[in-house]
Amino acid sequence: MQEVLTRLSGKLFVDGCFVEGQGERLQVRNPARATVIGEIAVAGTEEIASAVACAQRAWRTWAKEPARVRAEALHALGQLIREDASSMAQVMTLEQGKPFNEARGEILKLAEACHFYAEEGLRVHGEVIPNDQPGYQSVVMREAIGVVAAITPWNYPAELVGWKLCAGVAAGCAVIIKPSEFTPFTALYIAEKTLQAGIPAGVVTVLTGDGPSVGRALVEHPAVAKIAFTGSSQTGLRIQQSCPSVKRLSLELGGNCPMLVTRHADLAQAVQGAVRRSFRNMGQICIAINRIYVERPIYADFLTRFASAARALVIGDGLLHPAADVGAMAQPAPLQKTRAHLEDALAQGARLVAGGAAPAGKEYAQGLFFQPTIVADCTPAMLVMREETFGPLVGVAAFDTLDEAIALANDTPYGLAAYAYTQNLQEIHRCAAELDVGNVALNHVDAGIMNAPYGGRKQSGVGVEHGREGLLEYFQFKHVRLHHGVGA
Ligand code: NAD
Repeated sequence: MQEVLTRLSGKLFVDGCFVEGQGERLQVRNPARATVIGEIAVAGTEEIASAVACAQRAWRTWAKEPARVRAEALHALGQLIREDASSMAQVMTLEQGKPFNEARGEILKLAEACHFYAEEGLRVHGEVIPNDQPGYQSVVMREAIGVVAAITPWNYPAELVGWKLCAGVAAGCAVIIKPSEFTPFTALYIAEKTLQAGIPAGVVTVLTGDGPSVGRALVEHPAVAKIAFTGSSQTGLRIQQSCPSVKRLSLELGGNCPMLVTRHADLAQAVQGAVRRSFRNMGQICIAINRIYVERPIYADFLTRFASAARALVIGDGLLHPAADVGAMAQPAPLQKTRAHLEDALAQGARLVAGGAAPAGKEYAQGLFFQPTIVADCTPAMLVMREETFGPLVGVAAFDTLDEAIALANDTPYGLAAYAYTQNLQEIHRCAAELDVGNVALNHVDAGIMNAPYGGRKQSGVGVEHGREGLLEYFQFKHVRLHHGVGA
């Protein structure tokens, strides 16, 4: 493993080669042990300019290739990633903190994205549109956008890079990845695979560094035609405001996701779902459940079962305990925010029913660990009920009518995902129709699948990833109206 990290430390991936970055170095840490695992270079102005110029040259040729050629390269990439999944997962666990088995699962989903977009890219057709006047024909073509900057966060270091990379490459774009400065090695490792898969030089680039310098420089670069961003709503808004020229933006941002449990729910399933989606990846998921509203007659029973299921989760160093339920948090800021939201809730009268502190023991002493934590009897004023915690903390409150629960669920500037558990058909249809979010999951908590569009509303973003719609985000339309005179 050390050999991979040494090979990738300080490197940028430009024009099909790993080059030594010339700029300042940033350390990358293992959050389970607080040890330094490597360093990255902050790409400088000239390095960025040269990388964008290479990408600009590369996409024009790449876009002209038959879709079949791009599909073959993506299939090869998917195969290479699958074959090396264990090694890639170790790198991810080291820099992100999630248990090895979860990291491996994420790498395999990245491979799936390669194969999905390889296939989907073959089925991008234009349209012929009937005209009002005889002798004319309208053709709508779909053309690759050009150079795309993919700016990504640290919570899913492979998938969030992969959705942009695969859709962009399938469309014929060149993709410049600016990974999170906290989890850069997974992205550099993916770049190495693109080289082995035969994706031409310049089609894929990785520029490491921090957001305010490298990310911002890409946002401001006139030759970057699209920003595909996943990250916080604050940074998304900053990107939208700092864009000096008109360009395509897709912004996959934060959430504050509610879950509704009515008295018609299968309670065991609801508890299982609540545990999985509140605490998986230590709650560091944009679609994590932040707040749960439970119908009053089943409120006490739900809380008892939920608390005992949360306490049963196994916490561990993700490399030493590959099958642990949760690992370390990825970085200090969300841990501090979790503690702050917990303190705020308790100060305002919430009742602690599980967790509430770091786990005891030598193994946890150096790392960013925290117990899965549940607070009950929450009010809308508490931070846990209205802000994205992005940590292993969830607030629970009782409700009396579905109208009230839906109103509470929608009373947020966010609109990413919502969950509901009920076996009542009318309630199911009301939740599907009235929850004001991009993704509704009913009687389960896995809101996203590869072949359906995934995106947010309101302050949770614009644009989608996944599915056919996620691919079309990398194309622009061209209407060609021809006068051929036939039949006039
Ligand atoms: P972040 O916004 O701090 O950073 C995301 C990326 O943006 C990083 O690569 C960072 O370096 C870069 N960046 C920071 N400032 C920038 C600037 N001014 N210009 C350009 N780039 C800049 O987010 P994070 O803390 O890395 O990730 C957590 C957030 O991501 C959470 O809010 C979470 O909900 C969100 N998220 C959303 C989705 C989704 O699909 N909607 C998925 C995962 C994570």
